[in-house]
Amino acid sequence: MTEEVKTPTNFIRQIIDADLAAGKNNGKVATRFPPEPNGYLHIGHAKSICLNFGIALDYHGSCNLRFDDTNPHKENLEFVESIKKDVEWLGFTWTALYYASDYFDRLYQFAIDLIKQGKAYVDDLNAEEIRQYRGTLTEAGKNSPYRDRSVEENLDLFQRMQAGEFEDGSRVLRAKIDMASPNINLRDPTIYRIRRGAVHHQTGTEWSIYPMYDYTHCISDALEGITHSLCTLEFEDHRPLYDWFLDQLDVPCHPQQIEFSRLNLEYTVMSKRKLTELVSEGHVDGWDDPRMPTIAGMRRRGYTPASLREFARRIGITKADNTVEMGVLEDCIREDLNESAPRRMAVLNPLKVVLSNYPEGRSEQLSAPNHPQKPELGERELSFSRELYIDETDFMEDPPKGFKRLVPGGEVRLRNAYVIRCDEVIKDGHGKVIELRCSYDADTLGKNPEGRKVKGVIHWVEAGHAIEAEVRLYDRLFSVASPDKGGDYRDLLNPESLRSLSICYLEPALAEAEPGQQFQFEREGYFCLDEMHVHGQKPVYNRTVTLRDTWGRAEQKG
Ligand code: ATP
Ligand code: MG
Repeated sequence: MTEEVKTPTNFIRQIIDADLAAGKNNGKVATRFPPEPNGYLHIGHAKSICLNFGIALDYHGSCNLRFDDTNPHKENLEFVESIKKDVEWLGFTWTALYYASDYFDRLYQFAIDLIKQGKAYVDDLNAEEIRQYRGTLTEAGKNSPYRDRSVEENLDLFQRMQAGEFEDGSRVLRAKIDMASPNINLRDPTIYRIRRGAVHHQTGTEWSIYPMYDYTHCISDALEGITHSLCTLEFEDHRPLYDWFLDQLDVPCHPQQIEFSRLNLEYTVMSKRKLTELVSEGHVDGWDDPRMPTIAGMRRRGYTPASLREFARRIGITKADNTVEMGVLEDCIREDLNESAPRRMAVLNPLKVVLSNYPEGRSEQLSAPNHPQKPELGERELSFSRELYIDETDFMEDPPKGFKRLVPGGEVRLRNAYVIRCDEVIKDGHGKVIELRCSYDADTLGKNPEGRKVKGVIHWVEAGHAIEAEVRLYDRLFSVASPDKGGDYRDLLNPESLRSLSICYLEPALAEAEPGQQFQFEREGYFCLDEMHVHGQKPVYNRTVTLRDTWGRAEQKG
């Protein structure tokens, strides 16, 4: 996947093509990615990032990163920094970086403007009363008794809301639209609420009132000259409100809001509330736990930026709600790493092998290609001597039919080395196999043995130079495909989502691995050195993905 395939067209690109053909927006295309810094980004955000930044790249337009930071209680700088890092890591560069809070002064002026036009009023109803007055889908709402306050009174109260005179929840500023509208979003939506004493990560304690998302978003888009404001389908019903605010106010342009469907992925959850709970309740080990669908978690797991961009390309952009199979995501990283990851040998469940006919004290250097299909990636050295480790699952005393690996009296090829034969099985007091005494055929390095066929090939590591490591095997975070549907999603967590193998042996070439670097452990899967690894400490490897899709099936090896 060194060369990325061109992004296929979609209905949003077709709208943009038509706008350009019609000469709209002076031929400009300007998008933005507007995360709220109240959590880490997840794979669903990656879809939106690839869409917005991808369009800017392909149309030689611009794409801003804008923090939608209107709720100081839930947001913080850790989230701001993680979002910047993740967007850059995905391979994108924003044209400009903004915070909605950059516009707090102008949003305040626009609110005064609405009040002066008689299109906004201060309401003294509390949240519960506002909900009761709002009506339902089948029933019109009722006007608030405060709806017809004079402009002067509204201006006075609004300024005193900002001056900190009133308690949280005691008053709000509302747009005056239509309490009988069939679209509930237009029934006098709240545009400002009081958050006295909140400390905002950008503006500190300057503001006692904070603007609501719907009001802030459209004005921010207009102030930045956004041409196409792309958001997810749940905002479709908000579009009339988006347009209403811009129609009332003297803004530089009127961006077009277009909605597309959210990404849902099987075996995981994507709502920020739930991801926050998984972290705060300790169900996972932080936002970057490799089982999380966050970009930080997937990076730590070993996913590459190219694999996530390819995933976004494959799922495409539509208006149809659907849930994507985990296999689609896993194929993207498998295909990428199959091309790029150097091959190494690692024994995850060690079983000692002693070669009785290999002279004690002797050792030799063998070599093996870093990538069987890519000689240009060179070779690495492997040491070989009398004592080795193989994986205990590659030996069976009582094998089923068709078992091609090592059995008592049988032969197997050690990958990149010799053919060995198992002569003796040594057990502990409980009957557990603890060592195999074998002999090697010195005449089988790089060639077939004379007069007989040896079918099986297994991986191994020489004991004397092996690196001891911990290997973490990850599985689906949830044990059902749709943990969001019915009941408490926390009851559906997969208890086997992490299995840690504390004593594994790696071939010596892995001593040079860099934190975050990916490898194929031959016959096992793709793994990366944990990005938190500190040189000199026992390494931890994270399994990114198995070699084949093994979910729900017995693992096939051999
Ligand atoms: P929450 O989970 O609390 O609803 P959010 O997912 O809406 O939060 P934001 O930070 O507001 O989080 O999202 C930033 C942008 O990413 C928005 O434009 C949003 O539409 C988009 N986005 C969020 N989730 C997805 C998803 N699953 N698929 C596609 N786009 C998404
Ligand atoms: Mg949101």
